[in-house]
Formats: sequence, structure tokens, C-alpha cells
Amino acid sequence: MSRAPGSPQAGPLLEPHPGADRPAAEPSREASGPLPEEIQPPVLLGLDRAITALITGVPPLLLGLAAWRLWNRDLHWRDAAIFAVMYAATALGVTAGFHRLLTHRAFATSRWMRGLLGVLGTMSIEGPVISWVADHRKHHVYTDCVGDPHSPHVDRGGGWRGALRGLAHAHVGWLFDHTQRGSRERFAPDLLADPVISFVDRTFVLWSLLGLAIPFGLGALAGGSLQAGLDGLLWGGAVRIFALHHVTYSINSLCHFFGRRRFATEDHSRNLAWLAPLSLGEAWHNNHHAFPTSAFHGIGRSELDLTGSTIALLERLGLVWDVQRISPQRLAAKTLRA
Ligand SMILES: [Zn+2]
Ligand SMILES: [Zn+2]
Repeated sequence: MSRAPGSPQAGPLLEPHPGADRPAAEPSREASGPLPEEIQPPVLLGLDRAITALITGVPPLLLGLAAWRLWNRDLHWRDAAIFAVMYAATALGVTAGFHRLLTHRAFATSRWMRGLLGVLGTMSIEGPVISWVADHRKHHVYTDCVGDPHSPHVDRGGGWRGALRGLAHAHVGWLFDHTQRGSRERFAPDLLADPVISFVDRTFVLWSLLGLAIPFGLGALAGGSLQAGLDGLLWGGAVRIFALHHVTYSINSLCHFFGRRRFATEDHSRNLAWLAPLSLGEAWHNNHHAFPTSAFHGIGRSELDLTGSTIALLERLGLVWDVQRISPQRLAAKTLRA
């Protein structure tokens, strides 16, 4: 099956319609791959890689410091609280903001809420919001085929070595590789034209630093000392960034490799139940690839989806609307038989 390259607006936002949008003579996406104009060329590749190395490398080093302080019983309840608040706020910025709202338009909201979710997501330091969306829309168009920016299944060889190479590429390797990034012009023209989101995108560094200043300020205020501020920065900054990065990366790596397939999709997406709580529901990834525009990735009460629950709460409060839901008939039509 194929979705026509060059129609990113329709492809990733709407439910996939196998073959329906492609003339019969057009080659499959496996054979054709992406068009050159669908790939975002790197700007200053060496500098980009150095910054990526810094952002992915420093938090794990500081995690060692955090573990050492924990070992010495230097963890205060206020640090745990700062971690939890910062994790929840920035993770929701990514899951509800970057992903369900801005990539898939799973609900609509005011420009203020769009801006707030965009800022919170940017504090996760997962790159400028429009680049994040362009990469993720390209992932949905070319899922697990040539052109997917982070599939564990493409061109990594066979056997367990190939599997490990694929998982490493899908987890962090792709961040250093700019050969299959999504073109911002091609995959996110709507966001480039959105004044609120393009402002948040341009001022990415400012919001990233604010995401470090807030936990420092909270720690210093609650503890009344510079050391308390630094502890707040360690837990609400470095440890929180490390945790959220690797949960997000795990959706790209583990959720295309391990877990259960509930729905028929033409990719390797899977539902990984144990990752659902920390990922705020994003680990119901096979459900998501089956129904990309749905605001809810967990289906039914048994599949915990804290992002979906938050969106439902915001809907009741009148802060979001046009929340996309999938009918039981459409769910049943794609359900795999046991
Ligand atoms: Zn995926
Ligand atoms: Zn998605």
C-alpha cells in the first residue's frame, strides 16, 4: 500500500486510506521513497551534531550526580515534587501539544492554549516545534519504509545485530543523521504560516532556558538557598529532560518493535502497556498508527491514557473543542482477530 508522497497535509493528518489516494500506476512508497524536496537539508551539520550530543549527553552525566545524592539521602520531597510538576507539564506539551494538536489536529483550541502547549513542549528540548512536527508527519507518511526518519526496520541488516542497530538508530542515532528529516516547508506549511507557533519555533532557545530557570527558581524559593535552587535544577531540569527524552525516544524505537498489535496497520507499530503511564498514553502506538487523528490513544478504561484524559477534561472546561473520536464501527473494522 502507499500514500502518495507530496501530500503531507492529507497523509498524516487524516486516517490512512490504503491505495485510495494513489493512481494504480504509481510505484509503491517502498520503491519510490521520498522526493528530494521532502527532506530537510541540515544547517551547519557539525554544530547541530555537537549541540545534539550536548543535549543528549549532559543529562545522563547529571543523572549520575542525582543518583549519588540519592544514595547519600540528599533527595528532598521538594525535589521530587519539582521533578513531577516539570515532567507532567513538559510531557503534556509534547503529547497533547506537539503531537496530538499540532501534528494531527486531534482537537482545536484557542491561540493562547496553542502557544502555551507549544512553549511547554519546547521546554522538553526535543528541537524546535515545527521541525518536530515535520519529522513526525514524515514518519506517518513513510512509516517503517525508506523515508521514515526513525524506523528500527530500514537498512540496518538482519539478525540480532541488525535488530540492535535498528533500535539504536530509532532511539537516538537518527538525531545525528539528517538524511531523512522532514522538510518544514513540505510537511508543516500550516505551522510556518501560524504566527503563534512560528514565534515559539523561532524563540526555541529562550523557552529551553526558561525550562531550566523555572525548576531552579522553584527550588530556590521552596528551599531558600542557592543549593536548593541547584537541586531543583538537577531534578526538574537534567533528570526530567533525561527521563522525558528517553520515554519519547522509546515510542520511536520500542513501540515499533515490542508489544502487541491490536489493529491492522501496514507498519510495525505496537502497543507497549508498561510504557503507557510514563508516556502519558503515547505507548498505545499501534492504536495511534491505526487512527492518527484520534485525540485518544488508549481505547477503553483499561488503556491508561493521561493525555487523552487531560484533553477530555479541557473539553469539559470549554478550553478545547472539536475533539476527534473514533466510532466503535471504525474500531471494529480494523481490529485484528486473536
Ligand atoms: Zn510510529
Ligand atoms: Zn503521530
